[in-house]
Amino acid sequence: MFASSQFADLWHHAGLWLRGYALVLLMMAIGAVLERRRPVELLHSRSVQRLNLVYAALYMAVVEGLKPLTAAASVAIVNALGGGMVVLASHGWGALASFVIVLLTVDLLEYAFHRLQHTWPLLWKLHSLHHSAVDLNVTVTFRHHWLEAAIKGCLLYPLVGVLFKVDPWIVGATSLVFMFGNYFAHLNLRVDLGRYTTWVNNPQFHRLHHSARPEHFDHNFTQLLPLWDHLFGTLWIPAKHEWPATGLDDGAEPRSLLAAVSWPLGMHAARRGTLERKPVPALDEEAK
Ligand SMILES: [Zn+2]
Ligand SMILES: [Zn+2]
Repeated sequence: MFASSQFADLWHHAGLWLRGYALVLLMMAIGAVLERRRPVELLHSRSVQRLNLVYAALYMAVVEGLKPLTAAASVAIVNALGGGMVVLASHGWGALASFVIVLLTVDLLEYAFHRLQHTWPLLWKLHSLHHSAVDLNVTVTFRHHWLEAAIKGCLLYPLVGVLFKVDPWIVGATSLVFMFGNYFAHLNLRVDLGRYTTWVNNPQFHRLHHSARPEHFDHNFTQLLPLWDHLFGTLWIPAKHEWPATGLDDGAEPRSLLAAVSWPLGMHAARRGTLERKPVPALDEEAK
């Protein structure tokens, strides 16, 4: 039997999950409306998009359920390493500077972790679920393996607390920027930012990261600012009409919730870069 406080706690988390998922659906609906105006390609599978929506609900539930664990991990890490090495301002122009510092730090951590996801076989087994999307579109935004949320929540994000003593609202404001940026980058939207395409992550820049073409592999890792790809030598500046096909080189992707959840146990999770690579034509070349 649940004690009433446990039930209240569960009810509270269920409410937060429901609100979070409702926001996800709203953002994806807005994204889908934008995608209809100028799609990069017509999507191949509605059933995979539906699966992505269902998977996002599960992913959000896991993130919500992990909150006590990630909070405990943050406390343990901050206690072990010391917390708030640098005190950041929370008022006036100082708050703006704090916002920029936290934004750059989180983006650099995300960049570094993303490089590891493509380097360490175990992390790639998880991350390849995200890369298996043949139809790159807004519904792929949350198609990350749930274990990645645990790893990042317990080991990566607490580092921000080790480095900085900062008001939570500043961290919250940067989270909003990353959230909108993440949706934007995954849109199936033919938007041309011209000379600004390497200023901020965008549908074409991130599509190159998801490309199934071997020459694009391991480029454009950034979550928000291509600055990091530029600094660390992983930048691929997309040509004006470069909108490659996406997915793993063997085209594998999960077709059921069970297949998505258990993805790292399958054969396909290890395949990119290990199979003989067949050249994949760019969409624009296919259209010729
Ligand atoms: Zn990646
Ligand atoms: Zn992506």
